[in-house]
Amino acid sequence: MGITQTTWADPLDYLRATGPFDPVLFLSPAALQAQAQRYLDGFPGLVTYAVKANPEEAVITNLAAAGISGFDVASPEEIALIRRLVPGAALHYNNPVRARHEIVFAVGHDVASYSVDSQSELDKLLAHVPQRRRGGEPTEITARFKLPVTGAAYDFGAKFGATEELATELLRRIAAAGFTPSLTFHPGTQCTDPAAWEAYIRAAGRISAAAGVTPARLNTGGGFPSHRIEETRPALEAIFARIGEVSAEVFGADAPALVCEPGRGLVADAFAALARIKALRDAGDGGQAHVFLNDGIYGAFAELPLMGAMDRIRAFSPDGRERRGARTGRIVFGPTCDSVDRLPGLAMLPADMEEGDFLLVQGMGAYSVVTNTRFNGFGALAVQMVMTLEP
Ligand SMILES: *Cc1c(COP(=O)(O)O)cnc(C)c1O
Repeated sequence: MGITQTTWADPLDYLRATGPFDPVLFLSPAALQAQAQRYLDGFPGLVTYAVKANPEEAVITNLAAAGISGFDVASPEEIALIRRLVPGAALHYNNPVRARHEIVFAVGHDVASYSVDSQSELDKLLAHVPQRRRGGEPTEITARFKLPVTGAAYDFGAKFGATEELATELLRRIAAAGFTPSLTFHPGTQCTDPAAWEAYIRAAGRISAAAGVTPARLNTGGGFPSHRIEETRPALEAIFARIGEVSAEVFGADAPALVCEPGRGLVADAFAALARIKALRDAGDGGQAHVFLNDGIYGAFAELPLMGAMDRIRAFSPDGRERRGARTGRIVFGPTCDSVDRLPGLAMLPADMEEGDFLLVQGMGAYSVVTNTRFNGFGALAVQMVMTLEP
């Protein structure tokens, strides 16, 4: 089944062999499986993967091969994808707003857990979801709560999450209705400070005490950071340790089983993006020429305007020689005619770059393949397999 794809030694191997005109994302299955292993070894509970960050089939199958057995899904499409690729996986349907036909679809695909953050959405779940699943195990419903944001690059609480008071009522109602009662939160994305998780776990303790219900599980969300800035390596183990310690302190002997659902933190650093310089256009003011790439914010760089610049970028000539000139700040535009199609800030790039050169950007696996558009006729983005990402 499937197409046998060439595995290249590294991105330069591919660049030299093909000289691509369209943008490319490189996946290193070895890097992805190693990152999965880091979570499986370090996180004090069940590691699930948030499919929305990157639903490429090679991502899902490699995570499953590494031992990831649970998936956070948000739509019937994602549910069907995981059931097809990893039939025995535990599905956690953690989009707290669902149409009734989507709930019925989820029940038909034996979803194990549903999150909820409002009474009206809990009414819908109670109307359509049986207390017991096919094999007889109880169905879990998790009350999702929010706090004022700390430490996240992007505020998820603005859309989803109940107040502590509402979460208390939801948790009580879930238990009374005969479902496995649990709690969940999502601290944001690219959170670098363990304190973000600590504040939520303490709130989970307050909600559980006020409800008089001990949650079976506490899902500590995603939000784990990836390596975006060369000098700042994500301190995942410090975050894992803090989650375990605070949960033990808050809940004592009754500590709920822990779950996490990283998207970015699992997948981002398993990919690198390759974009080609279409033009170095005279800025007209005697300053540095503006760089025009064949990829931009409607393509693999979609989330940069929200998340901020990244600096793990190297430049190569078409025959694969690295440009080692002094780095200067450049304005970088994407290929579309839209004026917002520009990377944030200035990119520090070598002064000896030329038209036709390539930029290789590390850490590009999250919210890139899946948010790519075909706007303006661009966006022919291919995924290639490599052994290693850094030439
Ligand atoms: C998006 C999302 C995640 C994954 O977030 P990352 O920041 O990519 O880790 C996890 N859980 C929920 C509920 C989400 O919506």
